[in-house]
Amino acid sequence: MDRLLDRFLEYVAIDTQSDPYSKTTPSTEKQRNLAKKIVMELHQIGMQDVSIDANAYIMATLPGNIEKTVPTIGFISHMDTSPDFSGKNVKPQIIENYDGKDIVLNSSKNIVLSPKYFDDLEQYIGQTLITTDGTTLLGADDKAGVAETITAMEYLIQHPEIKHGPIRIAFTPDEEIGRGAHLFDVEKFGAEWAYTMDGSQVGELEYENFNAASAKIIVSGKSVHPGYAKNKMVNAINVANEFLSLLPAREVPEHTSDRDGFFHVHKLKGEIENAQIELIIRDHDAGHFQARKELLDDITQKLNKKYGDCVALKIEDQYRNMREKVEPVFHIVEIAKEAMESLGIEPIIKPIRGGTDGSQLSFMGLPCPNIFAGGHNFHGKYEYIPLESMQKAVQVIVKICELTAIQIKSNGKRKKS
Ligand SMILES: [Zn+2]
Repeated sequence: MDRLLDRFLEYVAIDTQSDPYSKTTPSTEKQRNLAKKIVMELHQIGMQDVSIDANAYIMATLPGNIEKTVPTIGFISHMDTSPDFSGKNVKPQIIENYDGKDIVLNSSKNIVLSPKYFDDLEQYIGQTLITTDGTTLLGADDKAGVAETITAMEYLIQHPEIKHGPIRIAFTPDEEIGRGAHLFDVEKFGAEWAYTMDGSQVGELEYENFNAASAKIIVSGKSVHPGYAKNKMVNAINVANEFLSLLPAREVPEHTSDRDGFFHVHKLKGEIENAQIELIIRDHDAGHFQARKELLDDITQKLNKKYGDCVALKIEDQYRNMREKVEPVFHIVEIAKEAMESLGIEPIIKPIRGGTDGSQLSFMGLPCPNIFAGGHNFHGKYEYIPLESMQKAVQVIVKICELTAIQIKSNGKRKKS
């Protein structure tokens, strides 16, 4: 546990920002700098089968230390940081025994992390907080997950009295640009299930995420001199506007929460001859998700009938709710929940209003709920993480390994999705 903070600070000092416009994997060469360091460390602490492939996916094994057959489980974190904000020259500040007041991140730029705005801070009074200096993100997302996983493996190696089955760990590039799972070799990983250590505050345990699709609507208009346009002109701008007016006005991100789905229009441009709408569809419920796609189709047909085939709709699926892959092996959630409870951590189980690499992995055959890594305010200068939350994440990993070895007797489930 001693090395946890040092590890974390060493990792965030290495810039690993990913790049959505790059076609390579990893999307940025600099991610290899952290990857190399991690590989070295895995060897140092005594992990087996340490491997790094051409795309910088790292895997390693902690062999089991008991006789009986216990399922192989895994833990996965990502090495990259968000393209949304700089991760270069991260200079973390460590605030010991946090007093509950404003934290000045940067006095010259007047950047303050205040509990008046970020009220989650109040639950960490008395703890050690790691913040940014206001000019970069911190990278707790997800270098906290990396540091926690490695520290938990080191702890298990140093405490052979804790009995566990085979553990696999993996570190991926490019999660922040949605490609962390794309080249993940599930078969090589060889775990029956895994957890991404990539959630936010202490206690988070997630196994539901959105079903997601994107849609593009292209309207082709007919431009005619406005003075002679009657019954001739089709103004693509007006048709696009009518399309939008037929969407349910309250089912948008700014009016929805929990399991409410939405349409989110994020781009609109138009001239008389051509207008384009880009939107995303999100819903946890597969039936509602389908109904949303059908609504877009119905509106398209209706407008095509009214104005002559001028609207083209293109829908593309993005990711699916992992719940359907996790529910048949629900003991994987129960073990994580029990691990938290036995450590005095109250599990916060809620649907993710987004996607995770775990959802992709679940559909690739590796059921993969998400567990807290401890940080807050990801992807920006207000990002921070309490050291105590990181320590709890380490304990949760250790406990999950322990409980999996004990519980295989009682549930005996060895399901593959
Ligand atoms: Zn993350």
